[in-house]
Amino acid sequence: MDTITIKDLTFKPFIPEAELQESVKNVAKQINEIYKGTSPIFLGVLNGSFMFIGDLMKSIDLNCMISFIKMASYEGTESTGKVNELIGLNEDIEGHDVILIEDIVDTGNTLEKLYQMLQEKKPKSIKIATLLYKPEAYKKPYKIDFVGKEIPNAFVLGYGLDYDGYGRNLSSIYVLKD
Ligand code: 5GP
Repeated sequence: MDTITIKDLTFKPFIPEAELQESVKNVAKQINEIYKGTSPIFLGVLNGSFMFIGDLMKSIDLNCMISFIKMASYEGTESTGKVNELIGLNEDIEGHDVILIEDIVDTGNTLEKLYQMLQEKKPKSIKIATLLYKPEAYKKPYKIDFVGKEIPNAFVLGYGLDYDGYGRNLSSIYVLKD
């Protein structure tokens, strides 16, 4: 693998495809064991999780539903500031086991908002799976139940993760070159 330059930034190879796929299979194995005999709903958080959830679901042998959600953020009135809205959730998740599928958990800000919005819909349970996790950056109390790989606090690209909209199609993960 070579370095990749996107706009003003250069990235170097970080996690090869085979290693990523092994992490994905490992997450699937844990989920299959814990949810055996149940019918959870997988909610992939767009855009970044599309590759992870695609590969993950190939190794999930549960009777399950899969859907995608997105967090939209817009400027509200001056008094309310930024308003977050959950879009794409058409399923009624009340009373269901929900598994939230994230590409990466960094500070946990996105996750916290999503978690709170989903909780209002009264699911039976919510667990969180993420391909990548930055423990040094994470500041929230929510347990990350399934982690593909822990990584240092650096900016990564590929396998769904973008830089300014580009690089999501790369089949392995790259890290910003210093
Ligand atoms: P958080 O709210 O946990 O700080 O960040 C979550 C979101 O920020 C992720 O879903 C992802 O879209 C973006 N993000 C966080 N860290 C990275 C990174 O290293 N690379 C890329 N491409 N996106 C990131």
